[in-house]
Amino acid sequence: MLSQEIKRCVEKFYSRGVEIRRRIHQNPELSEQERETAQLAADTLREFGIATRTSIAGNGVLGLIRGGKPGKTVLLRADMDALALNEEADVPYKSKKPGIMHACGHDGHTAGLLLAAMALSELRDKLPGTVKLMFQPAEETVGGAEGMIEAGILEDPHVDAAFGCHLWGQGEEGTVQVKSGPLMAAPDEFRVTLKGRGGHAGLPHSAVDPVVLAAHAILEFQDIMSRRKDPFVPAVLSVCMVRGGHTHNVIPESVELQGTIRTFDEETRSFIPREMEKILRGLTLAAGASYSFESLRRYPPLINDPAATEIVRKAAEKIVGPDKVGAARETMGGEDFAYVAQKIPSSFFMVGIAPPGKQVIHHSPHFQWDERALKVSAACLCQTAFDFLLES
Ligand SMILES: [Zn+2]
Ligand SMILES: [Zn+2]
Repeated sequence: MLSQEIKRCVEKFYSRGVEIRRRIHQNPELSEQERETAQLAADTLREFGIATRTSIAGNGVLGLIRGGKPGKTVLLRADMDALALNEEADVPYKSKKPGIMHACGHDGHTAGLLLAAMALSELRDKLPGTVKLMFQPAEETVGGAEGMIEAGILEDPHVDAAFGCHLWGQGEEGTVQVKSGPLMAAPDEFRVTLKGRGGHAGLPHSAVDPVVLAAHAILEFQDIMSRRKDPFVPAVLSVCMVRGGHTHNVIPESVELQGTIRTFDEETRSFIPREMEKILRGLTLAAGASYSFESLRRYPPLINDPAATEIVRKAAEKIVGPDKVGAARETMGGEDFAYVAQKIPSSFFMVGIAPPGKQVIHHSPHFQWDERALKVSAACLCQTAFDFLLES
């Protein structure tokens, strides 16, 4: 049976996958600086006879496995970047770089996809089509997937379906979660400056106080979420930065706010900033102040294709068993695989890393997981690739 062969190949190269994961974990690189990680990915692909292109839109790497039989093309994707925080987890392969850590599992995504690549190269003769392996930079910051798409990785040969996964702290070890439709939110940003007129704190009537205006704005923004938006439409608005003033007895000239808006649909995505601006206009008009408002669109929402998701679900059932495949929950986190999913029928799935009864917190200095999850992610990616090519 194919799934048994896939598992056998993954098992065969597993220790190699662990070694790669640990090397990446010990040498984490921030977004847009993933040079050594990209080099390691490229070297490993070439060692397994996989045609490889490097330096795509920065540090992007693309491997191409042509199967022994003709067919369609499927893309599997991993991200490579780490985060700016100091590792506190007590593991033998702890980060060697102070202030940089793989705290989201992207080291595992890169190692897992390389492990899948090793297994696929072993089974190449049976593969009815082509597999593209996408190793992308800068998922955590600027969205490296977008640049790689602009560089043409979805063409020549044209990609017919794309799949990726995330090691997931809210799923139990040994399980897989899938979901059709919206999975992760569009993580947009905003910046506001409220400009009043500075003055003496004891004589507020001779100044225009931007601190009080900022307080009103922060609260009224939440009124959009509770009073103006349809309660059945999920969305979040968080003001995460407030900056203004220098001392206790001077009303400052201006106050700056920054934050994020998370949505799943285009209508709400443009509705919220529009309403925010109305609030700012009204408040500043009444107070005799002025404002600037910038709404910055980041990644689109990640929407899974139903047919592609069904392929993942069945593939995962073959690997971990039907009782270990469940439904993923939407999350307000963002994921730049969304750029791929916007263009190509795609599905992104979750591979559990939480010990029973526990949660593992991403972006935490204590983030860690059992490497056996690499087997699950690699085998599910292989099986999904095969099943898509076999069915189409
Ligand atoms: Zn992350
Ligand atoms: Zn991530």
